[in-house]
Amino acid sequence: MNEEELLMIPGPVPVLPRIREAMSKPMIFHRGDEFGMMYEEIVEQLREIFKTRNDPFVLSGSGTCAMEAAIGNLVDEDTRIVCIANGKFGERFPVIADRYTDHVKALNFAWGTSIDLEAVKEALESKPDVVTMVHNETSTGILNPASEVGKLAREHDAVFVLDCITSIGGDEAPVDDLGADIAIVGSQKCLGAPPGMSAISVSEKAWALIREKQKRRPFYMDLEAYKKSFGKKQTPYTPAVSLFFALREALEVIKEEGMKRRIKRHRTLSKAVRAAVTGLGLSLFPELNEVSNYSNTVTAINIPNELTDETLKGGMRRRGVIVAGGQEKLKGNIFRIATMGNIKDMEVLKTIRVLEEVLEENAVIEGAGKGLEEMKKVLSEMG
Ligand SMILES: *Cc1c(COP(=O)(O)O)cnc(C)c1O
Repeated sequence: MNEEELLMIPGPVPVLPRIREAMSKPMIFHRGDEFGMMYEEIVEQLREIFKTRNDPFVLSGSGTCAMEAAIGNLVDEDTRIVCIANGKFGERFPVIADRYTDHVKALNFAWGTSIDLEAVKEALESKPDVVTMVHNETSTGILNPASEVGKLAREHDAVFVLDCITSIGGDEAPVDDLGADIAIVGSQKCLGAPPGMSAISVSEKAWALIREKQKRRPFYMDLEAYKKSFGKKQTPYTPAVSLFFALREALEVIKEEGMKRRIKRHRTLSKAVRAAVTGLGLSLFPELNEVSNYSNTVTAINIPNELTDETLKGGMRRRGVIVAGGQEKLKGNIFRIATMGNIKDMEVLKTIRVLEEVLEENAVIEGAGKGLEEMKKVLSEMG
């Protein structure tokens, strides 16, 4: 691993030394008091970051593990589910749901476009049991209208599953206010922890469906088993203890910064990236409507015609900065700069400086500096 490499991708994000060091603590008994105290601490902090009254359960598995835990526990053979998607991660829910029921309705919008609430309303007329959506669609850099969809789900009495994997910990994502019955987060994105963990909160309404429906729930991700162990401050099976140490430290970092300041930092840095790239004559990928917004944690930018995915990313990589390309059908069309976790001004400034060098080298721009100038304006305005 090159210590000089700056990771600006939407997960895994750079992990602070104090969080990395936490992982090398001596092992402890996962049924003992020390683990119980740590578990309680983690749960209480997650509850605050999720802004929920419900219990958040910690899973030893990445974000997709929590996505499957949600679907696998809610959905039976006869469960009807509507999956709203406008990007890669939104489209993952119907793929998972297909393994549990034949009654999946995928409500797809073109990647990078916004969700049309009229179409959502129409899809909900069919009275599905469950509705899924991604809050911050990482593949396209768009922030979806969670509270509007949450309200529609409530009106139609559907359980609302919201993937907050790249919003919680970085942006405003008050789970209960958004009307999310199940909300999930991953460790390696805005929380700034290493990959391999996720957390899932479950409302009373979701529990009712879980209890009523599930004849064949998953074994390892059985949420009823997690609930049973919860009172004992344990997990049903051996947890990834070292990652729990890291997650506790990452949550401590968040507590020290305070969520209000943390959200402001994420918003400022993503706004600064948008200002810098548009100042350089590049265009942003998302097509917004009145209910969507640019993501405050990851920026998706169209690759200029003069460049390929490899000249752009490779040129930046040779200068020590790793950015993400487009996924699947967006490969070669866009690149993405994440501003998640514990990223600071300095790292974003370096990223923009390196981007300018690559654009200049490939004759996309003449003379560097314009992006940094626009970026600094935003940084000084926002304090
Ligand atoms: C990263 C991500 C996932 C998948 O998480 P893994 O940790 O890779 O399993 C799901 N949804 C969103 C929005 C993501 O950004």
